[in-house]
Amino acid sequence: MPQVPTTAGDIEAGELGVVLMHEHVFIRTETLQSGWPGFGGWDTAAELRAARDRLGRLREAGVDTILDMTVPGLGRDPALVAQAAEGTGLRIMFATGYYTYDNLPFPFQFRGPGKILDGDDHVLESLFERDLTVGIGDTGLRAAVLKVVTDEPGMTPDVERIANAVASVALRTGAPVCTHAHAPTRRGLEQQRLLAGRGVDLGRVVIGHSNESTDLDYLQQIIDNGSYLGWDRCGLQLTVPLEAQIDTLVALCERGYSGRIMLAHDKASFMDWFTNDEIGFGAPDWQYSYIPSTMLPALRERGVSQDQIDQMLIGNPRDFFSAPASAPPAAGAAG
Ligand SMILES: [Zn+2]
Repeated sequence: MPQVPTTAGDIEAGELGVVLMHEHVFIRTETLQSGWPGFGGWDTAAELRAARDRLGRLREAGVDTILDMTVPGLGRDPALVAQAAEGTGLRIMFATGYYTYDNLPFPFQFRGPGKILDGDDHVLESLFERDLTVGIGDTGLRAAVLKVVTDEPGMTPDVERIANAVASVALRTGAPVCTHAHAPTRRGLEQQRLLAGRGVDLGRVVIGHSNESTDLDYLQQIIDNGSYLGWDRCGLQLTVPLEAQIDTLVALCERGYSGRIMLAHDKASFMDWFTNDEIGFGAPDWQYSYIPSTMLPALRERGVSQDQIDQMLIGNPRDFFSAPASAPPAAGAAG
């Protein structure tokens, strides 16, 4: 069975256990944190302690592994995350990609296709590929997935450029793809079109933030096209009330789709976008504990079986990471 890189070393996909497929630990705006250290109340020692406590409780609630979807643009720092997880027993997987809803930073405005030397997208692709094959910086920690982000503005030229680079690297390395998709504007379908058009196997793609839609037609199309639904903002009601999110998930399970859904909260221990007081005021249920303590009991009460829950939390992540890579045959290979 394929090996998956985690903070506990490379482990077999079948050993991942209960997995939350889209979480964060520290979300920090790089330019603000380096320009004004401590921005937003950041205190390294205090936040390490707080994160270790929260991750430890998540482990005690039965979670074995989380996928940290924090990529550059969100302040990715795997060494610090690994330090926070130390001693908790929780394993963490990492991601590569770039987080933006519209533009890439300045260096990419001058390098790449159609730029000064009209090169290919080697710069972007080599960054992603190194994270997957060598490791992130000098941490020795490799990314387990590639990330595509499409929010309300859709496939802007730079977002499309990132998505194309992700597709190329996915084909070369065989790494799977997880996305951030603005569900109310059905961005997941647009992501699937681009990735499939570049030859990526949609069975190795999770379309994220799908719980921000109650549109069963949209959700069904994503599944029919072969991808998983990332039901990954549990406890957060930006566009859909929590009760309606549970109703939609129950309806999908009733249709027999528990084999195509993966769960998570998209929560961070620290986020410099909001203070924890602001989150407590605006989204009181948005906690790492929401799925184990609130959502799973609600699902069971509504007739979702333990087998279906295990499928979403254990079986699907295992199958996702152990599916055969969609890499094309090596150059010169027979046939
Ligand atoms: Zn996220």
